[in-house]
Amino acid sequence: MKSHRRIQILRRRAAESQGWRCYYCLFPMWESNPEAFKTRYSLSSRAVRHFRCTAEHLTARCDGGRDIEENIVAACHYCNRTRHRRKRPKDAASFASFVRSRIDRGRWHLAPSPVSIGAEPGDPARKTRQTK
Ligand SMILES: [Zn+2]
Repeated sequence: MKSHRRIQILRRRAAESQGWRCYYCLFPMWESNPEAFKTRYSLSSRAVRHFRCTAEHLTARCDGGRDIEENIVAACHYCNRTRHRRKRPKDAASFASFVRSRIDRGRWHLAPSPVSIGAEPGDPARKTRQTK
């Protein structure tokens, strides 16, 4: 599965450059340790699944989007799934503003607000902290 492996590498690279935050909703994401993430953000087992880091094609595969660095960002499972569940998926930029307006109205995934999460920087998966 060469292409699967490639996507994985691109996803991780994108996630790192985004500080492990979803491209759309800007919430933190986890890659391999849901338990730690769940504890850290006091999420339910159901809610924690929304924040799994996934590879998102800015231009969808079915629209000719390719598995290349420029076309792959990291998005949480919830945003990724919700975007592509639509009959006519919005382009990435419109979807991002759609997501943010829903968050402002408290109508996105079940989670603490980005404000409270934002108060605690750092990547839970890698246990590194910015020292600035
Ligand atoms: Zn998201």
